[in-house]
Amino acid sequence: MSERYTGIKFRTKKLGELLENEQLETYALQLNNVLKSLPEICLEGIAGNVSARIIDGILISASGTSLKNLGVLDDYSKVISKFNDRVVEYYGKKIPSSETKMHQLIYTEREDVQYIFHIHVPNLEKLQLMNRYPITKRFFPYGTINLAREAVNALSSNDTVILRNHGVVVVGKNIDITIRILKQIIKR
Ligand SMILES: [Zn+2]
Repeated sequence: MSERYTGIKFRTKKLGELLENEQLETYALQLNNVLKSLPEICLEGIAGNVSARIIDGILISASGTSLKNLGVLDDYSKVISKFNDRVVEYYGKKIPSSETKMHQLIYTEREDVQYIFHIHVPNLEKLQLMNRYPITKRFFPYGTINLAREAVNALSSNDTVILRNHGVVVVGKNIDITIRILKQIIKR
């Protein structure tokens, strides 16, 4: 389960800073509030990532950050390139999450999705045994297109997917429903 983090696996191009913007701050605060409501054990270390769909791209937590205490906008990047683009183009102080490609593919394939939470839950083994949520068939290293595709396949029939031996992904249209699903999963 403890795959070593070795940085991002795609090319990036910084287009500028992430300037103060009410809409972006509202999304960042929403995401941070959800994270704050989760048990701290879910947010340990440099693991997991969160994002929201915005008008011109996605707002996503930066790579190499802890989800425990994300700064509003300082620890987020705005990605405006598309999934198929070779280079991930972004605004922000820090490089976007190593799982940016997975988030992009989910937003592309699931037009209804507004929020994505990828959390390294402590009860992963139990969840895998329960057989209640779709589980990716194989283990793929983090940040790979294979992992992104596996996740998206499983999400075609559900708003939750377990990434085998890795963590969970929960997606949603509504922040309150998404948080409820997340809390249910962690409690199991
Ligand atoms: Zn992960």
